[in-house]
Amino acid sequence: MYPPKLLNSLAAVILISILSTGCAKYDKEGDLPQGSVAITFDDHFVDNWYKYLPLLDSFNAKATFFVDAYSKLTDAQKNKLKIIQQHGHEIAYHTVNHYDLLKYLGKHSMQELIGKEINPGLEAMHKDGFYPTTFAYPFGSHNYQLDIELTKMFKSVRALNGSSNYAKSLVRADCNKYLFGLGMDNSSNHPDKLYYRMLDGVKNTSSCLVLVGHMIGENNSKFQVPSDRLRSILQKARELNLKFYTISEISN
Ligand SMILES: [Zn+2]
Repeated sequence: MYPPKLLNSLAAVILISILSTGCAKYDKEGDLPQGSVAITFDDHFVDNWYKYLPLLDSFNAKATFFVDAYSKLTDAQKNKLKIIQQHGHEIAYHTVNHYDLLKYLGKHSMQELIGKEINPGLEAMHKDGFYPTTFAYPFGSHNYQLDIELTKMFKSVRALNGSSNYAKSLVRADCNKYLFGLGMDNSSNHPDKLYYRMLDGVKNTSSCLVLVGHMIGENNSKFQVPSDRLRSILQKARELNLKFYTISEISN
């Protein structure tokens, strides 16, 4: 047992640290934790995502789309991205050229990386009314130095959970800086029941499961989330009464 004085000062330290990070998102008084899921998609498959917008909307799911190569999108695709945003989904950032940033840093400075791979794409998006506040690493490739630099510019950075430690993809439902998405694509080689088990696990907790995919589709190509899998994840989340969060909502 700790003496009451120590407990009081510990509580004060925790409270101060929460307030000083601006991290003060609480459930309403009397609410029980509900559990949540953050569904993310990477790259620039705007036409494909747009096609499945009605599926996401039909479950009232809010997803996050990390976009690379924004300047190469056609006007029609930019318009679709705008509609996706208007439906409450988050448009986030994924670099200009989708380079492996660790390899890039082997040949270039951090300043060049930010000047060539981060700022120009952001500026182009800003001109069109997109203001990304969260970031995902191409190929999930990152290190501590990148994490430090990029969290100066973004609320959070998301990498990939390529390990069998699936718990890395379970995070608190607010104030994160570093996230690891659990793959939903065919390439992840996970059975559907893994997602159901993970979703079951967050029910009635303060945890959020972070998932990542690329395209949504009907075939077995590597970087596709089978549409049946996505549908059943959405269905399961609804059955369990989980909340859908975008990444900025669970970021610091
Ligand atoms: Zn990517």
